[in-house]
Amino acid sequence: MALFTEAMDDARIALKTLADRVDGIAHPTLRLGVTGLSRAGKTIFTTALIHALTRGGRLPVFEPMQSGRIAGAELQPQPDDAVPRFAYEDHLKTLAQARQWPSSTTRVSELRLAIRYATARGRTRTLTLDLVDYPGEWLLDLPLLDMSYADFARHSLALARAPARAEVAAPYLAAVASAPPQGPADETQAREVAARFTRYLADCRTERLAMSLLPPGRFLMPGDLEGSPALTFAPLDLAEETPRAGTLGAMMERRFEAYKSAVVRPFFRNHFARLDRQIVLVDTLSALNAGPAALADLERALDGILAAFRTGRNSLVSTLFRPRVEKVLFAATKADHLHRSSHDRLEAVLGRLVERARDRAQERGAALDVVALAAIRATREARVRRDGHELDAIVGTPEPGQVAGGHVFDGIEEMAVFPGDLPTDPDALFDPSGAGFRGMASAQDGDVDFRFLRFRPPPGIIGDGPLPHIRLDRALQFLLADRLS
Ligand code: GDP
Repeated sequence: MALFTEAMDDARIALKTLADRVDGIAHPTLRLGVTGLSRAGKTIFTTALIHALTRGGRLPVFEPMQSGRIAGAELQPQPDDAVPRFAYEDHLKTLAQARQWPSSTTRVSELRLAIRYATARGRTRTLTLDLVDYPGEWLLDLPLLDMSYADFARHSLALARAPARAEVAAPYLAAVASAPPQGPADETQAREVAARFTRYLADCRTERLAMSLLPPGRFLMPGDLEGSPALTFAPLDLAEETPRAGTLGAMMERRFEAYKSAVVRPFFRNHFARLDRQIVLVDTLSALNAGPAALADLERALDGILAAFRTGRNSLVSTLFRPRVEKVLFAATKADHLHRSSHDRLEAVLGRLVERARDRAQERGAALDVVALAAIRATREARVRRDGHELDAIVGTPEPGQVAGGHVFDGIEEMAVFPGDLPTDPDALFDPSGAGFRGMASAQDGDVDFRFLRFRPPPGIIGDGPLPHIRLDRALQFLLADRLS
């Protein structure tokens, strides 16, 4: 019965999506998804994008704006009543008045913009742009729909036992060892293992490890589901494929299935399947900070994200939930943490990460591009003399509490720092020996000395034009320009 209801729901949404597309011919609408793992920069990017479109200004590479064809863009009531609105005004206020970064994305939110523009023939048209901001962690749940609990448990335990994670996974693995799946279904035990599993996933995400591939997505980004039974399960060491009724294993299996039907499916059906275009933000620098294992993990996570957009596989999931995304842009964020001379190198590293994922993809449904950007630029560049040499530096206000070279930053003083240099050859970073990382300082246990510092938002960012940025116009050109011509 549940399956039948699910199938009906899926069919209804598929019809609605189709109806939206037909309607879109008369009233052109573009649904742009903004995603990325937590702290990748979704909130900042979405805020900067809305600001750039509504306020206009100098965006040289974004042709419709540069040529003056965009007459204006206004915020509009969003189409989905049950989805929170992206808190644009609050975020802008936090940035401009408090000079603080606003709170990050933890759930889906939407915002609608109506962009008035002139066509090449001088006719006035309106494009409705729906922005959908959602956690990238949730995308990594798509493969779960095709997995049984036994598959999921095997896969997750193999990851937890891999060398890069084994240490941080130890308490969870100990809990698994003392929770035999054939034992009685005990709520306290279920909660204990689930809590340790959640803790392990969260510990993998810390700055030191900066792991990326950590499904199930809601364990890290619960949205409104924090503490609910659908999140109180964990992978156990199953001896048999299907746990017997009444056992702890069967209880976990039931909850895993509930997670899929009550959490994962609705997200893909209601939000993901309706996207037209997508930007995937990637905090490449944090992975570089943490070292080769984090970079390899990020690569696997990006592969997983890209798989969600891949068409051509013929499982039920793929046909129903995979959107017909025409364009996907991968963007390495926070490029302002580097000197200009490293921006192309950052782009090359991300290109390399995505390229390998793309090579593994059998079919390429969508146009794909890569850019390194800073949606809000918190630093400026300077030449600084040191020991008789002129050196490239970046100037900004490092966020308080960070430590570099024994100096603790207070969050008030502006200073010039020498940012990390990326290697000219991105391949060096993917050398299994880790040779490419030698010479790049990294986060050591206990003694955190980040090569790439975080900076506070710059003062006085609200002026006439867009917020200060790096290559935001290139992203806009790829994502929007052809629909505004
Ligand atoms: P989300 O979790 O993807 O929504 O991430 P946010 O957009 O909240 O960004 C996380 C953090 O990354 C922010 O608090 C900033 O510290 C930093 N950040 C994001 N975008 C930028 C950027 O363009 N420039 C700089 N300097 N920092 C950024």
